[in-house]
This record gives sequence, structure tokens and C-alpha cells, in this order.
Amino acid sequence: MLEVSDIHVSYGKVEAVRGVSLTVKPGKVTLVLGANGAGKSTTLKAVAGLEKPTSGTIVLDEKPITGMPPHAIVRRGIALVPEGRRVFAPLMIHENLRMGAYTAPKSSYDETLAKVYEMFPILSDRSHAAAGLLSGGEQQMLAFGRALMSQPKVMLLDEPSMGLAPAVVDSILTKVRAMADSGIGILMVEQNAEAGLDVADDVVAIARGEVVFTGPATSARDNASVLRAFLGEAALAGQ
Ligand code: ATP
Repeated sequence: MLEVSDIHVSYGKVEAVRGVSLTVKPGKVTLVLGANGAGKSTTLKAVAGLEKPTSGTIVLDEKPITGMPPHAIVRRGIALVPEGRRVFAPLMIHENLRMGAYTAPKSSYDETLAKVYEMFPILSDRSHAAAGLLSGGEQQMLAFGRALMSQPKVMLLDEPSMGLAPAVVDSILTKVRAMADSGIGILMVEQNAEAGLDVADDVVAIARGEVVFTGPATSARDNASVLRAFLGEAALAGQ
């Protein structure tokens, strides 16, 4: 279990995250909602070690990881799938996947790769294609696969549906659910609140760097008016 307690993160004099606490349980999806600039990406970056909290603690399976460098955090079992996917476009799919495995034991490489190919058959079918030739949805699956190659306990997903057509968003979020169902804890930032709530177990809403709502996804839906007040109409379009 990942436990983030009262973290603060600043960019110079600007405090972007002001006392965020959340938990991510194995096999569950915690959805982070919030308007632009609320501090969602910064929260994920702090967990991944890309930004250092000025205070607060981040604990994975009862061991503190606060302030550790990113590579050490990957080794502890936390994989970030960044906003915009950032696959290595000129490299082939299987080469992108290999890069995700650099912290994992070599002995389990083939087994992990087989699991990734089973979950994402398109990656297996096109394993020797350059990643840059894939569609946006396929690149997102490759970014998931690359993260899975590190054998994570927790995955941090930053806006996985960004820029994708609605039908593709559904298939991506179905994969998010499948990854959670395999036992991985998932912390997901998603602007598309409606679609995100469909696969989430728990919700944390952030406004101006502070948590304004925390609870099960079902109660977040019931409290749409509360969320609307914090997030604005756009985040709840379709409700
Ligand atoms: P978005 O959905 O727009 O990505 P977000 O909720 O992920 O928003 P963050 O990216 O975490 O928000 O940004 C939180 C605040 O920190 C914003 O005010 C933003 O302008 C600021 N910020 C983010 N990154 C930096 C940076 N590298 N340097 C300075 N300020 C930053």
C-alpha cells in the first residue's frame, strides 16, 4: 500500500501542493481529480521522486521513500507513466519495453514480457515496428507496457486519456482496470472525470494544491454537486 501523508511541494516560492494526503491500495484505482494547475501532476511527480516534498511523508509497504531519487523509487516498485506517453519514437516496440525493464531482475524478463504481450496483443503483433508509427492509443498501451516491465507494485498514470478519441479512451481505461485487477495499485490523474470514475475505486479531488474531497468513487458520483463546486462544470461534462 502507498501512503502519502500531508506532502507539500514548492516550485521556488510557489507552493503547488499544500498538504496532500492519499492512499493507493493493491488492486485498486485511486483517481485524482482537479482543475488545471490544481497540483495533480506535481503530486504524482513527488511520489515518483521527480520533485522533492518540502515536508510530509511517502511510504510504500511501510517503508519510507520520501525524497529518494527516481531510479531508487522505481526499484522499490513505483512506475510513472508520464503525461504525453513519451515513448521512444525511433525505437521499436520491443526496444521500448526493454528500456522499462532496466531495474528488474534479468531472470524474470521473458515472463514479464509475455504477460505484457498477453495484456496488450497489439504490442506483440507489432513488436518490430517503430513506436512512432503507433496510434495515440497504441502508444499509451506501450507506455503502460513499458511501466509494467519494471514489475511495479504501484503505477502512477498521468492523464492516460489525453488527446484520444472517446472510443479509444474506453479501451485505455478498460486496460487500467485490468492492470489493477492483476494486483497493482494505481494512482491516476484524469481530466475526464466521467470516464475516470467508471474504473476508479477511490477518489481524491484537489483544488489549489489542497485535498477538497476524498472517498469512494461511488460517493464521489453521489456528491457530484460537491465535485462540481470544486472542479467546475467542464470536469463533470456529461453528468
Ligand atoms: P494540469 O492538469 O494543467 O497539468 P495539474 O493539476 O497537474 O494541472 P500541476 O502541473 O501539478 O497541476 O501544477 C500545479 C501548479 O504548479 C501550477 O500553478 C503550475 O503552474 C505550477 N508548476 C507546475 N510545474 C512547474 C514548474 N516546473 N515550475 C514552476 N511552476 C510549476
